[in-house]
Amino acid sequence: MFREILQRNKVSIVLFHDLNASCAEKNFTYLKKHYNIISLNRFIQAVEENNPALLPRKALIITFDDGHIGNYNLLPAIIRIEIPVTIFLCSDIVATNRKFWFKYSALTDTEQLKQLTNEERLAALAAEGFEQAAETSETEALQMQHIEDMKPFVNFQSHTRFHPCLPFCSDDEAKSEIAGSRSMLENRFGLSINAISYPNGDYSNRDIELSRHAGYKCGITVDYGFNDLNSNLFKLKRLSVNDTGDINELMVKASGLWAFLKTRNGKKQPYGFIERKSGC
Ligand SMILES: [Zn+2]
Repeated sequence: MFREILQRNKVSIVLFHDLNASCAEKNFTYLKKHYNIISLNRFIQAVEENNPALLPRKALIITFDDGHIGNYNLLPAIIRIEIPVTIFLCSDIVATNRKFWFKYSALTDTEQLKQLTNEERLAALAAEGFEQAAETSETEALQMQHIEDMKPFVNFQSHTRFHPCLPFCSDDEAKSEIAGSRSMLENRFGLSINAISYPNGDYSNRDIELSRHAGYKCGITVDYGFNDLNSNLFKLKRLSVNDTGDINELMVKASGLWAFLKTRNGKKQPYGFIERKSGC
């Protein structure tokens, strides 16, 4: 019902992270059967030109955040099922042996760390033995060759440099994360970057302005809802779906029903727009 009524004239954006390759076949096949999968660039163009002809009914955009190394195993399914996919990369974690801070095993309370200023968070992590720029013996993110192999089939975009909570960054830090990530991805990886996915879905007006100024055309949140030609391109809404092969769960989550209920009619959620605190 949600799909046929709510999503019929809307553009839904779904978010995965580290989907298992065997689940990907099922997930992509389901989504392709029930939606019209379009690329993010096509949606940007439709909004910029205010052109409804570019948007089919029940349009859906598939996105992945972070750039987990397991994403490479999705390539055969992406090619075989022929679907446009956007993967948002942390520019200073991919092609290195650095770790994602939110996966760091010594951490006890990731959620609490997300409430700290960036400086405080980095200090708390350092006290636990984590340095965001330190190379380790493990590979968590996509490597250069993976990105090269996937480039012809995948739209790679930015997820900042190190995945901070942007509203809790100083102006300099936020600028470095937003603009620095774009130039790194373009210059080092030869990518064409026009979109940013805000880490954790957290953003402020300052971060939107920095993104616009850095040359991005859109910013993707995890605010609940759907998009259309009148959407603010820097506050695009997205539906989080779990990285499982459970098609019933995917059906409910991709339709927006699950988030609708969880966020109490789409109003209450623990992330999203944050009015910046003074001093951070
Ligand atoms: Zn992320």
